[in-house]
Amino acid sequence: MQRLTVQRQAILDLINASNRHWDADEVARALVDAGAPIGIATVYRGLAALESFGLIDSIQLADKKRYERADKAHHDHMICTNCGHIEEFSHDTIETLQQAAAAKKGFKLTGHQLVMFGFCKKCTQGLDA
Ligand SMILES: [Zn+2]
Ligand SMILES: [Zn+2]
Repeated sequence: MQRLTVQRQAILDLINASNRHWDADEVARALVDAGAPIGIATVYRGLAALESFGLIDSIQLADKKRYERADKAHHDHMICTNCGHIEEFSHDTIETLQQAAAAKKGFKLTGHQLVMFGFCKKCTQGLDA
């Protein structure tokens, strides 16, 4: 097991304690609120290091990376472009079709990320009202 600095351990504990998808600013703010202030550059470096150790996962959105616990089962994401809400989902047919698409290209699949953009249920109801 990789030995972590106190700050990296604090970042890891924060992420492991929730189901959220964190960006660097949110991590920095939460640690300040918890009485463990940390510089944003340290947060960015810490997140990248934790990901490289396989201790956290990331999803790349258009503008930024978000991080989540690494111990969740594989899933993909839907992101509301209105409020930023992130919905997790997993669909067997989509998974199977991705395997088939890769095989057709002779591509050895090692992983994938699927991010769908749109409006969440709440925001859609807001649009209808
Ligand atoms: Zn929304
Ligand atoms: Zn997720």
